[in-house]
Amino acid sequence: MENTAFIALGSNIGNRYDNLMSAIKHLVDYSQIELVNYSSIYETDPVGYEDQDLFLNMVIEIQTTFSAIELLDVCLKTELELGRKREIKWGPRTIDLDILLYNQENIETEKLIVPHPRMIERAFVMIPLLETNRDISIPEMEKPLAAWLNAIPDKEGVRIWKQKNGEDVFEPIES
Ligand code: ATP
Ligand code: CA
Ligand code: CA
Repeated sequence: MENTAFIALGSNIGNRYDNLMSAIKHLVDYSQIELVNYSSIYETDPVGYEDQDLFLNMVIEIQTTFSAIELLDVCLKTELELGRKREIKWGPRTIDLDILLYNQENIETEKLIVPHPRMIERAFVMIPLLETNRDISIPEMEKPLAAWLNAIPDKEGVRIWKQKNGEDVFEPIES
C-alpha cells in the first residue's frame, strides 16, 4: 500500500482502552488500511478544557490506499460508530481520531489540515508519535521531530499506562 499515515487516538469516556482498541479494529477492517506500528498507551491530563477525566492516548502508523480525504472520512465515520458526540470544544469524547501526517504532504482544505496544526505543541501526541518512529520528520521542517521534544510543555502530564511489549502486552489486532 503506497501511503503512510500516522493517526493519534484519544478517549476519556467509558471504557477508554476498549474504545482505542475498537477504533483500531474499525480502521483495519478496511482492506485499504494496514496497521504497521503502534505506540504504548499513555494516560494524560486533559489539555485545553481541564474539567474532565484523564485521557488515554496513543498513535498508530498505517499504510493505506485511501487518499488523505478518504482517510479523514473513515476516521470521522469511525468516531460516529463509536458514539462520539461533539459538544464542548476539546471536551470529553469516546474517541478522537486525528490524522497527524500523510506521507510528507502538506494539505490545507476546509475539512483537513495535515500535518495536524496543533500536534507539535502537544506532549500527548508527540511522545507516542516519536515512540512509533524516532526518526520521523514533518514536511518543511529540517530538524527531526525528536529535536522538538525538549521544548514541549506538560510532558509530566503524559504517563505510560500500558507499555508496548511490556509485561501486560496488548495486541490491537489478533494475529
Ligand atoms: P483538535 O483538532 O484541536 O485536536 P478536536 O480533535 O477536538 O480538536 P474535532 O471536533 O475532533 O476537533 O474535529 C473537528 C474537525 O477538524 C473535523 O471535523 C475535521 O474536518 C477537521 N480536521 C482538520 N484537520 C484534521 C486532521 N488532520 N485530522 C482530523 N480532523 C481534522
Ligand atoms: Ca484532537
Ligand atoms: Ca479530532
